[in-house]
Amino acid sequence: MEHAFLRIGWYTQGTDCLGPDSRFAIWVQGCRKRCKGCIAQSLQSFDGGQAISVAELAEEILKSGTDGLTISGGEPFLQADAIAILLEKVKSARHELGVIIYSGMKYEELLEDSSAQKVLDYTDLLIDGEYIQELDDNRAMRGSSNQRMIFLSSRYTAEDMPEKRKNKLIFYDDKFRMIGIPTEETKRAMSLLRKQRED
Ligand code: SF4
Repeated sequence: MEHAFLRIGWYTQGTDCLGPDSRFAIWVQGCRKRCKGCIAQSLQSFDGGQAISVAELAEEILKSGTDGLTISGGEPFLQADAIAILLEKVKSARHELGVIIYSGMKYEELLEDSSAQKVLDYTDLLIDGEYIQELDDNRAMRGSSNQRMIFLSSRYTAEDMPEKRKNKLIFYDDKFRMIGIPTEETKRAMSLLRKQRED
């Protein structure tokens, strides 16, 4: 247990783009779905990213002093055992830490899996379902309107959530990363940047 590892794409701390208040955000690596228009294609491969010790990541989260933790991806529930250990560690040290998890799987499917259930026990808000490009209606917190916000505790309510999509592009070397759910304008900017990189 102490030597559990999680394969992640990256993480950041102190963002306000993926839920209320200041949040630590983790993008896990690996997803089997191939949603049309996925904005996280670099996180689909199971070979990419880096394996990070769960104990080390928990320490980073606790040190950050952020109010909440958002886990996205990739598909978090494909690494449910490691995430359950991570959440057990951070929630036992800071019970008030609000946990939001995005999954391409549906809540009903997750309930059938014992490892996923352990993660759900520590989750305050689950946003479930795959991304359907045709149903992207620009609403806050969700990529498309089929995705549900399922409040699993009293930590958050719908009123706590931002009214509009928030996102941010971070540039490093000759690459960029996006935090949040992109608006149409951000998607256009990302596609332009990708095109410029290919030229
Ligand atoms: S579930 Fe999410 S990460 Fe996976 S392909 Fe769909 S949009 Fe991309």
